Amino acid sequence: SSAAPAMAEAAMAARVPPDEDGDECLPQYRHLLSPDLLEGQVAFITGGGSGIGFRIAEIFMRHGCRTVIASRNLQRVAEASKKLVAATGQQCLPLCIDVRQPQTIAAAVDEALQEFKRIDILINGAAGNFLCPASALSFNAFKTVIDIDTMGTFNTSKVLFEKYFRDHGGVIVNITATLSYRGQALQVHAGAAKAAIDAMTRHLAVEWGPNNIRVNSLAPGPISGTEGFRRLGGKFAEKSNQFSMIPLQRAGNKTEIAHSALYLASPLSSYVTGTTLVVDGGSWLTSPNSFSALLGIASSSAK
Ligand code: NAP
Repeated sequence: SSAAPAMAEAAMAARVPPDEDGDECLPQYRHLLSPDLLEGQVAFITGGGSGIGFRIAEIFMRHGCRTVIASRNLQRVAEASKKLVAATGQQCLPLCIDVRQPQTIAAAVDEALQEFKRIDILINGAAGNFLCPASALSFNAFKTVIDIDTMGTFNTSKVLFEKYFRDHGGVIVNITATLSYRGQALQVHAGAAKAAIDAMTRHLAVEWGPNNIRVNSLAPGPISGTEGFRRLGGKFAEKSNQFSMIPLQRAGNKTEIAHSALYLASPLSSYVTGTTLVVDGGSWLTSPNSFSALLGIASSSAK
């Protein structure tokens, strides 16, 4: 009947938590989990001033967590912090770091510990990415992505370990990607960087498990309302109906990623370590990966 699609849409609306496109807090939020799930805890979130990291900060704060959001652009994290505090009533400390420079991370962690006296959760979300065929990628461009994503994740994890987690335990969630699973075209730099982080997740889970530190990766698929999505062909995907190639027939949203991060950061996953949680609607299994077709996008978006 003609009511069927409308009903399906209503059912979907009920099951998919809503999201806001820009770096704004959700106008309303319905808790699926206990609002005190992270009460008393503190999360240190790199890349927390925008996109997925911003929404992770918001959802954690809505579950009783205080946050530190840290990235290079202090103005960006300071503005994000104001919005987060206004929407959630929790504390949020914005700090300036470059994850490529360990001394900036050490200074920020010192400041965070001075302010909050503890850090329970580290979210490694800082990253850089762009579409580029390997043949056109400069040596320096490849290195920059490895430096920010892979080195940045190691640097931040090691500083947190030395300054707090070694003696108190902790939880680390590394935001990675599915790019390397099928050798995604135009993504050798980010795919290699994120695959190395997934390896690091397992190594650190093994070495730091006895210190009561859990380490997991969260690999998002295409997530609407993010810089990554805008840059990496979200519009193209929408126009060319690429979403029909994804088993769940749509892009994910930032709230959905934040909910998965909440699971990995909270005691809900207390026996989960060294693994990667893929949150992509099944996308990597079925989405097209044609080098020549994707090259078509890259050259038209460069014009
Ligand atoms: P985004 O808003 O651009 O987030 C990246 C963040 O990293 C920014 O807040 C940026 O802030 C920070 N950053 C970059 N370089 C840094 C550095 N050297 N030191 C410290 N911070 C730095 O993008 P997003 O799309 O939400 O992505 C968030 C995470 O999800 C990334 O790890 C990304 O790879 C992953 N991911 C996203 C998607 C997607 O569909 N969007 C899919 C798969 C994986 P500053 O500029 O202020 O430094």
